[in-house]
Amino acid sequence: MKNESIMKIKEKRVKSVITKSNLPATDLVLNPYVGCQHACIYCYADFMRRFSGHEEEEWGSFVDVKINAPETITSGTVKKDCLIAIGSVTDPYQPLEARYGITRGCLERLLKFQPRLEILTKSPLVLRDLDLLKQFKKLRVGISVGILDENLSRKLEPYAPSPKRRLEALKKLHEEGVKTYLFVSPMFPEISDFKELLKLSTDYIDEALFENLNIKANNRKRIFDFLRENKPELIPLYEQIEKKDNSYLYNLEQEISEYCEKAKIPYRIYFHH
Ligand code: SF4
Repeated sequence: MKNESIMKIKEKRVKSVITKSNLPATDLVLNPYVGCQHACIYCYADFMRRFSGHEEEEWGSFVDVKINAPETITSGTVKKDCLIAIGSVTDPYQPLEARYGITRGCLERLLKFQPRLEILTKSPLVLRDLDLLKQFKKLRVGISVGILDENLSRKLEPYAPSPKRRLEALKKLHEEGVKTYLFVSPMFPEISDFKELLKLSTDYIDEALFENLNIKANNRKRIFDFLRENKPELIPLYEQIEKKDNSYLYNLEQEISEYCEKAKIPYRIYFHH
Protein backbone atom coordinates (compact mmCIF):
# COMPACT_ATOMS: atom_id res chain seq x y z
CA MET A 1 0.00 0.00 0.00
CA LYS A 2 1.25 3.48 -0.81
CA ASN A 3 2.25 5.37 2.28
CA GLU A 4 -0.79 7.50 3.11
CA SER A 5 1.45 10.19 4.61
CA ILE A 6 2.73 11.04 1.10
CA MET A 7 -0.73 10.97 -0.45
CA LYS A 8 -3.00 13.95 -0.64
CA ILE A 9 -6.22 12.84 0.98
CA LYS A 10 -9.08 15.31 1.04
CA GLU A 11 -12.57 14.89 2.38
CA LYS A 12 -15.22 16.57 0.27
CA ARG A 13 -18.98 16.81 0.24
CA VAL A 14 -20.91 15.98 -2.93
CA LYS A 15 -24.45 16.63 -4.14
CA SER A 16 -24.83 13.13 -5.47
CA VAL A 17 -22.57 10.09 -5.60
CA ILE A 18 -24.64 8.46 -8.34
CA THR A 19 -24.34 9.79 -11.87
CA LYS A 20 -25.48 8.82 -15.36
CA SER A 21 -23.30 6.29 -17.11
CA ASN A 22 -21.62 6.26 -20.50
CA LEU A 23 -20.75 2.60 -20.09
CA PRO A 24 -22.46 0.01 -22.28
CA ALA A 25 -25.50 -1.65 -20.64
CA THR A 26 -25.14 0.40 -17.45
CA ASP A 27 -27.65 3.05 -16.33
CA LEU A 28 -25.77 4.67 -13.48
CA VAL A 29 -22.33 4.73 -11.91
CA LEU A 30 -21.33 5.18 -8.29
CA ASN A 31 -17.78 6.21 -7.41
CA PRO A 32 -17.20 6.73 -3.68
CA TYR A 33 -13.76 8.30 -4.25
CA VAL A 34 -12.01 10.47 -6.82
CA GLY A 35 -8.57 9.05 -7.51
CA CYS A 36 -7.18 5.65 -6.68
CA GLN A 37 -4.37 4.53 -4.41
CA HIS A 38 -3.64 1.49 -6.57
CA ALA A 39 -1.95 3.79 -9.11
CA CYS A 40 -1.97 1.33 -12.03
CA ILE A 41 0.25 2.74 -14.76
CA TYR A 42 -2.26 1.92 -17.51
CA CYS A 43 -5.33 3.31 -15.69
CA TYR A 44 -7.92 4.82 -18.03
CA ALA A 45 -9.56 6.77 -15.22
CA ASP A 46 -6.80 9.32 -14.86
CA PHE A 47 -8.78 11.68 -17.11
CA MET A 48 -10.58 12.37 -13.81
CA ARG A 49 -7.62 14.58 -12.84
CA ARG A 50 -8.92 17.17 -15.29
CA PHE A 51 -12.43 17.21 -13.86
CA SER A 52 -11.51 17.30 -10.21
CA GLY A 53 -8.89 20.02 -9.82
CA HIS A 54 -5.97 17.56 -9.78
CA GLU A 55 -4.61 18.30 -13.24
CA GLU A 56 -1.07 18.92 -12.01
CA GLU A 57 -0.95 15.86 -9.76
CA GLU A 58 0.12 12.36 -10.57
CA TRP A 59 -2.57 9.68 -10.75
CA GLY A 60 -2.30 7.61 -7.59
CA SER A 61 -0.96 10.49 -5.49
CA PHE A 62 -4.32 11.91 -4.37
CA VAL A 63 -7.73 10.72 -3.29
CA ASP A 64 -10.83 12.78 -2.61
CA VAL A 65 -13.13 11.01 -0.19
CA LYS A 66 -16.82 11.69 -0.85
CA ILE A 67 -17.49 11.88 2.81
CA ASN A 68 -21.28 12.35 2.66
CA ALA A 69 -21.83 9.94 -0.26
CA PRO A 70 -24.19 7.50 1.51
CA GLU A 71 -26.62 10.20 2.63
CA THR A 72 -27.03 11.45 -0.97
CA ILE A 73 -28.56 8.11 -2.01
CA THR A 74 -32.33 8.50 -2.03
CA SER A 75 -35.36 7.11 -3.81
CA GLY A 76 -34.97 10.03 -6.25
CA THR A 77 -31.52 8.89 -7.34
CA VAL A 78 -32.12 5.13 -7.52
CA LYS A 79 -34.82 3.46 -9.54
CA LYS A 80 -35.69 -0.12 -8.79
CA ASP A 81 -34.08 -2.49 -11.27
CA CYS A 82 -31.74 0.11 -12.78
CA LEU A 83 -28.18 -1.13 -13.12
CA ILE A 84 -25.58 0.67 -11.03
CA ALA A 85 -21.89 0.02 -11.57
CA ILE A 86 -19.83 0.69 -8.45
CA GLY A 87 -16.22 1.55 -9.26
CA SER A 88 -16.07 2.81 -12.85
CA VAL A 89 -13.29 5.39 -12.30
CA THR A 90 -11.92 4.38 -8.91
CA ASP A 91 -11.47 1.21 -6.88
CA PRO A 92 -14.27 1.22 -4.29
CA TYR A 93 -12.19 -1.09 -2.06
CA GLN A 94 -8.86 0.73 -2.21
CA PRO A 95 -7.05 0.80 1.16
CA LEU A 96 -8.72 4.03 2.35
CA GLU A 97 -12.07 2.24 2.31
CA ALA A 98 -10.93 0.25 5.37
CA ARG A 99 -10.75 3.54 7.26
CA TYR A 100 -13.66 5.49 5.76
CA GLY A 101 -16.23 2.82 4.88
CA ILE A 102 -17.84 5.02 2.21
CA THR A 103 -18.54 2.08 -0.12
CA ARG A 104 -19.99 0.13 2.78
CA GLY A 105 -22.17 3.09 3.74
CA CYS A 106 -23.46 3.35 0.16
CA LEU A 107 -24.31 -0.37 0.10
CA GLU A 108 -26.24 0.01 3.36
CA ARG A 109 -28.28 2.84 1.81
CA LEU A 110 -28.85 0.96 -1.45
CA LEU A 111 -30.20 -2.16 0.24
CA LYS A 112 -33.79 -0.96 0.51
CA PHE A 113 -33.88 0.05 -3.17
CA GLN A 114 -32.59 -3.30 -4.42
CA PRO A 115 -31.11 -1.99 -7.68
CA ARG A 116 -29.11 -4.30 -9.90
CA LEU A 117 -25.54 -3.85 -8.78
CA GLU A 118 -22.15 -4.59 -10.29
CA ILE A 119 -19.08 -3.96 -8.18
CA LEU A 120 -15.64 -3.97 -9.74
CA THR A 121 -12.49 -4.11 -7.64
CA LYS A 122 -8.97 -5.46 -7.36
CA SER A 123 -9.15 -5.84 -3.60
CA PRO A 124 -10.04 -8.65 -1.17
CA LEU A 125 -11.35 -5.91 1.12
CA VAL A 126 -14.67 -6.49 -0.66
CA LEU A 127 -14.99 -9.63 1.52
CA ARG A 128 -15.50 -7.41 4.55
CA ASP A 129 -18.95 -6.54 3.15
CA LEU A 130 -20.13 -10.10 2.48
CA ASP A 131 -22.94 -9.64 4.99
CA LEU A 132 -24.38 -6.83 2.84
CA LEU A 133 -23.55 -8.29 -0.55
CA LYS A 134 -25.58 -11.38 0.27
CA GLN A 135 -28.68 -9.28 0.91
CA PHE A 136 -28.89 -7.90 -2.64
CA LYS A 137 -31.06 -9.97 -4.97
CA LYS A 138 -29.31 -8.90 -8.18
CA LEU A 139 -25.68 -8.28 -7.52
CA ARG A 140 -22.42 -9.51 -8.85
CA VAL A 141 -18.83 -8.72 -8.04
CA GLY A 142 -16.09 -8.54 -10.63
CA ILE A 143 -12.44 -8.91 -9.78
CA SER A 144 -10.01 -7.61 -12.36
CA VAL A 145 -6.83 -9.51 -13.07
CA GLY A 146 -5.00 -8.97 -16.34
CA ILE A 147 -1.53 -10.15 -15.38
CA LEU A 148 -0.67 -13.24 -13.35
CA ASP A 149 3.07 -12.69 -13.08
CA GLU A 150 3.60 -11.15 -9.62
CA ASN A 151 6.75 -9.34 -10.63
CA LEU A 152 5.20 -7.67 -13.67
CA SER A 153 1.99 -6.95 -11.78
CA ARG A 154 4.03 -5.07 -9.15
CA LYS A 155 5.40 -2.85 -11.90
CA LEU A 156 2.08 -2.25 -13.63
CA GLU A 157 -0.20 -2.10 -10.58
CA PRO A 158 2.27 -1.06 -7.88
CA TYR A 159 -0.11 -0.68 -4.97
CA ALA A 160 -2.88 -3.13 -5.85
CA PRO A 161 -3.25 -6.47 -4.05
CA SER A 162 -1.38 -9.30 -5.74
CA PRO A 163 -3.12 -11.31 -8.51
CA LYS A 164 -3.01 -14.36 -6.23
CA ARG A 165 -4.90 -12.56 -3.46
CA ARG A 166 -7.45 -11.30 -5.97
CA LEU A 167 -8.13 -14.81 -7.25
CA GLU A 168 -8.48 -16.05 -3.66
CA ALA A 169 -11.07 -13.32 -3.09
CA LEU A 170 -12.99 -14.49 -6.15
CA LYS A 171 -13.04 -18.02 -4.77
CA LYS A 172 -14.26 -16.87 -1.36
CA LEU A 173 -17.03 -14.73 -2.89
CA HIS A 174 -18.19 -17.70 -4.92
CA GLU A 175 -18.09 -20.03 -1.90
CA GLU A 176 -20.26 -17.53 -0.04
CA GLY A 177 -22.87 -17.62 -2.81
CA VAL A 178 -22.12 -14.24 -4.42
CA LYS A 179 -22.26 -14.11 -8.22
CA THR A 180 -18.87 -13.28 -9.66
CA TYR A 181 -17.07 -12.47 -12.86
CA LEU A 182 -13.44 -12.36 -13.76
CA PHE A 183 -12.51 -9.18 -15.59
CA VAL A 184 -9.42 -9.99 -17.62
CA SER A 185 -8.34 -6.41 -18.09
CA PRO A 186 -6.33 -4.92 -19.47
CA MET A 187 -4.98 -7.68 -21.68
CA PHE A 188 -1.35 -6.91 -22.40
CA PRO A 189 -0.47 -8.52 -25.76
CA GLU A 190 1.86 -11.51 -25.31
CA ILE A 191 1.98 -10.91 -21.54
CA SER A 192 -1.56 -11.58 -20.28
CA ASP A 193 -2.17 -15.32 -20.14
CA PHE A 194 -5.96 -15.58 -20.32
CA LYS A 195 -5.96 -19.37 -20.49
CA GLU A 196 -3.98 -19.72 -17.29
CA LEU A 197 -6.22 -17.14 -15.61
CA LEU A 198 -9.31 -19.08 -16.62
CA LYS A 199 -7.80 -22.37 -15.49
CA LEU A 200 -7.29 -20.87 -12.05
CA SER A 201 -10.73 -19.28 -11.80
CA THR A 202 -13.29 -21.13 -13.93
CA ASP A 203 -14.78 -22.92 -10.94
CA TYR A 204 -15.43 -19.62 -9.16
CA ILE A 205 -16.94 -17.40 -11.83
CA ASP A 206 -20.29 -16.96 -13.53
CA GLU A 207 -18.78 -15.11 -16.47
CA ALA A 208 -15.47 -13.94 -17.89
CA LEU A 209 -15.09 -10.49 -19.43
CA PHE A 210 -12.15 -9.51 -21.60
CA GLU A 211 -10.87 -6.06 -22.41
CA ASN A 212 -7.82 -5.21 -24.46
CA LEU A 213 -5.13 -2.76 -23.44
CA ASN A 214 -6.10 0.69 -24.60
CA ILE A 215 -3.00 2.75 -25.33
CA LYS A 216 -3.93 6.40 -25.05
CA ALA A 217 -2.08 9.69 -24.97
CA ASN A 218 -2.13 9.76 -21.18
CA ASN A 219 -0.80 6.24 -20.49
CA ARG A 220 1.38 5.73 -23.57
CA LYS A 221 4.66 6.92 -22.08
CA ARG A 222 4.25 4.78 -18.94
CA ILE A 223 3.38 1.67 -20.96
CA PHE A 224 6.31 2.03 -23.36
CA ASP A 225 8.68 2.79 -20.46
CA PHE A 226 7.49 -0.43 -18.86
CA LEU A 227 8.09 -2.35 -22.10
CA ARG A 228 11.56 -0.86 -22.59
CA GLU A 229 12.56 -2.00 -19.11
CA ASN A 230 10.85 -5.39 -19.04
CA LYS A 231 9.83 -6.64 -22.49
CA PRO A 232 11.70 -4.66 -25.16
CA GLU A 233 11.17 -7.44 -27.70
CA LEU A 234 7.41 -6.65 -27.64
CA ILE A 235 7.73 -2.99 -28.59
CA PRO A 236 7.26 -3.55 -32.36
CA LEU A 237 4.04 -5.49 -31.71
CA TYR A 238 2.63 -2.76 -29.44
CA GLU A 239 3.54 -0.11 -32.00
CA GLN A 240 1.79 -2.12 -34.68
CA ILE A 241 -1.35 -2.36 -32.55
CA GLU A 242 -1.14 1.33 -31.75
CA LYS A 243 -1.12 2.10 -35.49
CA LYS A 244 -4.47 0.34 -35.74
CA ASP A 245 -3.14 -2.78 -37.39
CA ASN A 246 -5.71 -4.94 -35.66
CA SER A 247 -4.78 -8.38 -36.94
CA TYR A 248 -3.31 -9.38 -33.57
CA LEU A 249 -6.48 -8.33 -31.73
CA TYR A 250 -8.81 -10.08 -34.17
CA ASN A 251 -6.82 -13.30 -33.75
CA LEU A 252 -6.89 -12.94 -29.98
CA GLU A 253 -10.67 -12.41 -29.99
CA GLN A 254 -11.03 -15.55 -32.04
CA GLU A 255 -8.79 -17.49 -29.68
CA ILE A 256 -10.76 -16.32 -26.63
CA SER A 257 -14.09 -17.21 -28.25
CA GLU A 258 -12.94 -20.69 -29.24
CA TYR A 259 -11.45 -21.37 -25.82
CA CYS A 260 -14.50 -20.17 -23.85
CA GLU A 261 -16.96 -21.97 -26.08
CA LYS A 262 -15.05 -25.21 -25.81
CA ALA A 263 -14.74 -24.88 -22.05
CA LYS A 264 -18.40 -23.71 -21.80
CA ILE A 265 -17.46 -20.51 -19.99
CA PRO A 266 -19.95 -17.64 -20.47
CA TYR A 267 -17.96 -14.69 -21.76
CA ARG A 268 -18.05 -11.24 -23.27
CA ILE A 269 -15.30 -9.47 -25.17
CA TYR A 270 -14.92 -5.69 -25.02
CA PHE A 271 -12.11 -4.95 -27.44
CA HIS A 272 -11.68 -1.40 -28.67
CA HIS A 273 -10.25 -1.36 -32.16
S1 SF4 B 1 -7.47 -0.13 -9.54
FE1 SF4 B 1 -8.65 0.52 -11.30
S2 SF4 B 1 -9.17 2.67 -10.90
FE2 SF4 B 1 -7.51 2.10 -9.52
S3 SF4 B 1 -5.66 2.77 -10.56
FE3 SF4 B 1 -6.00 0.60 -11.05
S4 SF4 B 1 -7.14 0.59 -12.97
FE4 SF4 B 1 -7.29 2.67 -12.10
